[in-house]
Amino acid sequence: MKNEMVFFQERSGIGRRISAARKYMDTIGLYLHIPFCNGKCPYCDFYSVGDLLLTDQYTDALLNEMQMQANDTLMADTFYLGGGTPPLLGTENLIRLIQAARKQFRFSGEATLEANPNSITEAMLYRLREAGFNRISFGMQSAVSEELLALGRRHTPQQVQEAVKAAQNAGFTNISVDLMLGIPHQTPESALRSVSFALELGVQHISAYLLKIEDRTPFYARRIEAECPAEDVTCDIYLTVVDVLSRAGFHQYEISNFSLPGLECRHNLKYWHCEEYLGFGPAAHSFWHRRRWGHTRELRQYLAAPEQTIFVTDERAGGFEEYAMLRLRLTEGLDTRTLKQFGVSAENLLKKAARFEKAGYVQIRDGVLSLTPRGFLVSNELIAGLIL
Ligand code: SF4
Repeated sequence: MKNEMVFFQERSGIGRRISAARKYMDTIGLYLHIPFCNGKCPYCDFYSVGDLLLTDQYTDALLNEMQMQANDTLMADTFYLGGGTPPLLGTENLIRLIQAARKQFRFSGEATLEANPNSITEAMLYRLREAGFNRISFGMQSAVSEELLALGRRHTPQQVQEAVKAAQNAGFTNISVDLMLGIPHQTPESALRSVSFALELGVQHISAYLLKIEDRTPFYARRIEAECPAEDVTCDIYLTVVDVLSRAGFHQYEISNFSLPGLECRHNLKYWHCEEYLGFGPAAHSFWHRRRWGHTRELRQYLAAPEQTIFVTDERAGGFEEYAMLRLRLTEGLDTRTLKQFGVSAENLLKKAARFEKAGYVQIRDGVLSLTPRGFLVSNELIAGLIL
């Protein structure tokens, strides 16, 4: 723990020393983890707790941590409240956080709030829009009641419609919904119903994630895969969704993310572009000046002493493998001309890629290597085969 504390103080100190010596700014993203939920969905392994009595105290702790990490050289252009279920913090606390981002990090830009469709009211949305939130991401998951039930979700398709409508009324013009594919009882037809439902809502961004059965979740213990579509059916569902969204004008920019032109999530793009960001709260991670560090998943310990929950994960992050792996998640792909900076031969990589191109998993255009939708379905194996 002592080393972690030294690291934390040193990190803040580094920033202050840089500020005295240099005039330029580092433009970063800010991620705040809000670890409160009204119950636990059986597939979820995000860090969350149900102790809602701690929300005010937690907001104070986040504000303190932001103040400690801020320095003259840092400036933020994305602000993302994820969770958990951020609206459970309450309107006033959410506003205090965005105001602190402006004050401590000169934040101006994309401000996203994740929300469950039944966790937010129109009155809250008006206040939050007024306070500067300009993007909202709803956990819709499915438009089919039986599938929502099987996922342990506590909202209905009608509540999704109402929540999106309320956000539109409040002035949000950048709204995203999350869908899940390969879930219990889903069929290609039911998946298409969910996609059509999402499109009819008039949203600007859709994330469509394949269900991953994480260790130590109730889904894992129940061996839920027996109730999910077979692998080949799930692949068909994914490819059909990609096709339907593309025909509706949604550009696929990452394995699971689609948007109308220009409305990609700028904050998440920072992760895939290996750009810098600071994370606050238990389970949040940061990447700054080639260092990666995280916070342990311990709310009470965080409340007592945030610096003692920080652990460094990588002192020399952002190397070739990480850069290539993250770039290949994006449809913009990996420009092999950028590999010189890592001392890596573009020629070797392109030679390996040519084999996969013939099979329809990758495409190579003007030295830029990218995965096709079929390639995205086997991205882990493919990327390992290309870069390791
Ligand atoms: S609401 Fe979201 S964060 Fe909370 S348990 Fe469900 S999936 Fe996880």
